[in-house]
Amino acid sequence: MEQERNSMNASNLVINQAKSLKTNGGFLKVLFVSFIMGIGFNLSFSYFFDSPEEIILKKQNKELQTKLYAIGYRMDSIDNYLAHIQQKDDYLYRMLLNEKPLEKEIRMAGIGGAGYFATLSSYITPTDLERVEARLAVQMSSLNELTHKAEKIVKEYACLPQISPILQTDLIRFTSGFGNRNHPIYHLEKFHKGIDLTANKGTSVYATSKGKVVIASNQADGYGNKVVIDHGNGIKTVYAHLSKILVKAGQEVNLAQEIGKVGNSGRSIASHLHYELRRNDEPIDPTPFLDWDFSEEEYKALADGN
Ligand SMILES: [Zn+2]
Repeated sequence: MEQERNSMNASNLVINQAKSLKTNGGFLKVLFVSFIMGIGFNLSFSYFFDSPEEIILKKQNKELQTKLYAIGYRMDSIDNYLAHIQQKDDYLYRMLLNEKPLEKEIRMAGIGGAGYFATLSSYITPTDLERVEARLAVQMSSLNELTHKAEKIVKEYACLPQISPILQTDLIRFTSGFGNRNHPIYHLEKFHKGIDLTANKGTSVYATSKGKVVIASNQADGYGNKVVIDHGNGIKTVYAHLSKILVKAGQEVNLAQEIGKVGNSGRSIASHLHYELRRNDEPIDPTPFLDWDFSEEEYKALADGN
């Protein structure tokens, strides 16, 4: 009987221990499942919901994107302005100053491609900035070159003749123009380096621009009594076949100052003024620079006024 009770107690203990073990295994399972669920929940939470730091960063990112687009669009308009200036440079300024438009490769400074910085699919990059910088540098260089040339032309222009060497009222005939002609003495086709203005012997001859007399003599070269004036910047005028010379070599003369008298000295068949205009010692046509619209009084006023 006692033995029977003991064996029952022992079997109860085994059952209870087994129950207890079963209960503990369930708890671990719950713990494990909870752990997995926790991670999953956490992941899905952070997937669907940002942390405060992420919210700030995303906001900043959006603002930067907007700013970048804005810069891109502004770069586009700078690029358009630049293209406009380049076009003016090529087809107005350079043409006016007798210069060829720049080659496209030079214009693009070897970097190539047109602007188009801001598109919704692309951002402005440092390369875009370099491209604009390079094109601006080329444009600056072109404008500097043109400015230099324009300044030279302005200076040269100031040295060019501004009046006719004799008064219109004294002109009998415009006998011979610049360029090839049948020579009146040799009767050969010969290049005429100046123009011939027929006028009576003793007619006043005037300096057509201010300058320095470099020759005032008869050099037995066919020109007879000759005056040569250096006006600076490579511009000279020549007055030949004079009957009388009124200036000396080395003398500064004013615009419209009387320098001699018309004559027939040297190789000449009649009283006339042979008048030449030279640029860097090469004869050029003086006809476009003749201005007949001045009276004798105005010549005097011009000569006194400078
Ligand atoms: Zn002549």
